[in-house]
Amino acid sequence: MSKKKLGLNTICAHVGEIKDEQFKGAVSPIYLSSSYEFIDVDVKRYPRYFNTPNQEYLAKKIAALERKETAMIFGSGMAAISHMFLAFLKSGDHIVVQNTLYGGTSNFIREEFPKLKIEFTFTDGYSVADFKAAIQPNTKLIHIETPSNPLLTITDIKAIADLANEKAIVTSIDNTFASPINQNPADFGIDLIMHSATKYFGGHSDICAGAVAGSKEHMDRIWNVSKNLGGSLSDFTVWMLERSMKTMGLRVKKQTKNAGKIAKWLEKNKTIKKVNYPGLKSHPEHKLAKSQMHGYGAMLSFELANGIDSEKFQKALKLIKASMSLAGIESTVLSPAKTSHSLLSQEDRDKIGISDGLIRFSVGIESIKDLKEDIQQALNKQ
Ligand SMILES: *Cc1c(COP(=O)(O)O)cnc(C)c1O
Repeated sequence: MSKKKLGLNTICAHVGEIKDEQFKGAVSPIYLSSSYEFIDVDVKRYPRYFNTPNQEYLAKKIAALERKETAMIFGSGMAAISHMFLAFLKSGDHIVVQNTLYGGTSNFIREEFPKLKIEFTFTDGYSVADFKAAIQPNTKLIHIETPSNPLLTITDIKAIADLANEKAIVTSIDNTFASPINQNPADFGIDLIMHSATKYFGGHSDICAGAVAGSKEHMDRIWNVSKNLGGSLSDFTVWMLERSMKTMGLRVKKQTKNAGKIAKWLEKNKTIKKVNYPGLKSHPEHKLAKSQMHGYGAMLSFELANGIDSEKFQKALKLIKASMSLAGIESTVLSPAKTSHSLLSQEDRDKIGISDGLIRFSVGIESIKDLKEDIQQALNKQ
């Protein structure tokens, strides 16, 4: 069976299964050995070498979903990002990073790169011209995030890949928000595709993990650094992640459908000032999103009308939880200014448009009518 011909849900359900030869069980066994034979073996296996059976096989599913040769699984999304960056950047190198970006990635760059003398430029905006203007002679990596957290801006993936290619710069994308179900950046020429697997891969708010997919050559570079940094994931959790990923296609498609409906409904609501969702015609990059995404994703954000206190609103929700993180099957909301982007200065937040009243909404699989009712009753109380 060629992987290319398999449908999305078949990849989710089956690629990278470990056959239980001994007992013929239906699911992959867990291999918890941290010690493997080293004489007369093809692979010297060790958990921190990212090559225990469960790690190696689940990586095949991730690579197939992202249409890349190979992949690695990490202990968190930030482990994936930091190991990836450190594999392609050394002292004196420069990275161009999109300004609208996951807060943790931004913190990692601002706090750690000066110590390592790695230079960085955050773009002014997210247009191709903004990226072009930020490139330096020593630029080795361009990192983008689309749709971005929490404003759901859309970056032109192909244009950035082409720009970088021209100058032999490696490209990476944080594909967490879209998930491989809604977006495959490999089709547009992006080199490295990373995920916080804590989000849609896990999907049940009970796993912390990360992943990177790329060519064998690029992933070898990452492996060479990662084996020293040691950010691998426990095989228990790798196994949990495999189980979760079997339903990723189903979950994300339902969540995406719900998000589209909620976004349209919120946009009509007079107590909502603005809705950010790439699937809306009012979204400035709606057409671009349409051209590079299979679905518009299940994340959106919105601003309440002046005078409504966002914390009071979130407290009034009964079904939808005000909680950190995202992408679980349950709907959650949060205030980026108070959580993911709290370490940025007020000035930096204002610059990228993260207001105190902005609410990020991770849409779950619940019945749409119940979600709408919950939001409406919370708005009615304001
Ligand atoms: C959560 C998240 C991360 C970081 O992942 P962790 O698993 O929390 O380390 C990176 N990028 C995006 C877009 C995220 O949402």
